[in-house]
Amino acid sequence: MTNTNCLENIKCPSCGNEESFRIAAKTMATVTDDGVEDHTEMEWDDDSYADCTKCCWHGALKDFTVRSDPGAGGEALAANHVSYTPGPWACDLDYIVAADPNGRHPDIYIAEIAESDEEGRVASHEQQLANRQLITAAPAQALMLDLSRYGLISLADGDAEFNGTVYAFDHMQPDWEALIDAIGWDTARTAIAKATAE
Ligand SMILES: [Zn+2]
Repeated sequence: MTNTNCLENIKCPSCGNEESFRIAAKTMATVTDDGVEDHTEMEWDDDSYADCTKCCWHGALKDFTVRSDPGAGGEALAANHVSYTPGPWACDLDYIVAADPNGRHPDIYIAEIAESDEEGRVASHEQQLANRQLITAAPAQALMLDLSRYGLISLADGDAEFNGTVYAFDHMQPDWEALIDAIGWDTARTAIAKATAE
């Protein structure tokens, strides 16, 4: 059963129940000393509190919203390529930057590396340098994982083959970004999107 009316696209993300929910609704009631005389229609929105009548999972109603099923591959694609700012990512001093997906700015700040904290709760400078490299490499790694998952790339001794072209690739010290740069970010993304749509 899929909801199409009052509960369209609503489903418990914890137990899968889609039959009934408790939703904190707003209404305007006429009240006398004896109790409620009448009230207007009940209203709620995406931010209204809701809980699942089966497992008691609770949150804002929007947390219960399911998107139209993109299929298993589509979910992986959504998780990896739509929900975060598309790569490549780079460092600008303590900021992690990426191209503005909306094209309004040359680039946008997406994260900041903390170098100091009043209580000293910060990793050492050396670790933060390494951490920022790992963070900026993450989108390339995610693309690589998906290319592998869908069998689009084959890694052999010292090289990687994608779409009939062989790229130099050091497996001991993998430079994922250089590899994705060589393949082309859009080319890689398009190949994955095609594979997940099949
Ligand atoms: Zn539930």
